[in-house]
Amino acid sequence: MIEKIPEDKQIKIDDESLRIITDETFKSAQIEREARPKVKNMVKGVDSRFSTAHHFSNLLKCQCGGRLRKKVQKTSRQTHHYYYCRNHELYGNEVCKYRNLQREEELLDWVSEELREFVDYISNY
Ligand SMILES: [Zn+2]
Repeated sequence: MIEKIPEDKQIKIDDESLRIITDETFKSAQIEREARPKVKNMVKGVDSRFSTAHHFSNLLKCQCGGRLRKKVQKTSRQTHHYYYCRNHELYGNEVCKYRNLQREEELLDWVSEELREFVDYISNY
C-alpha cells in the first residue's frame, strides 16, 4: 500500500523549502525550543533532543512516494547508518525502481549546509 500525503505536508529534498521560512518563524521556533523544559526530554538518562535515531525516517521520501526507512549496519569496526526506500525493500522494482540509499552522515552534512546557507541568507536580508 502506498500512503498518500497531502502536498502541503510533504517535504521535498530538491526544493528550497528552507528558504521560505520567515525570519519570524525562525525566531519563534528558537524561542519555543529554549522554553521547552529540559526534563521532559530525558528518556532513561539519555537526552533525546540529541539523539539522531530515525531523525529522517518521517521526513524523507523516495521519488515513488515511499518513506525512507532507517537501517543500521554494524561491522566490527564501525556502525553505519543508512536510509533506503521502504517500497523498494518490501516490493522490489515493480513498485519502486529507486533504491535511494542514503548515508545518514551525508544527510546530516546536507542539512548543515542548507542551514548555513539559510543563516547567510537571513543575515543578508
Ligand atoms: Zn521508492
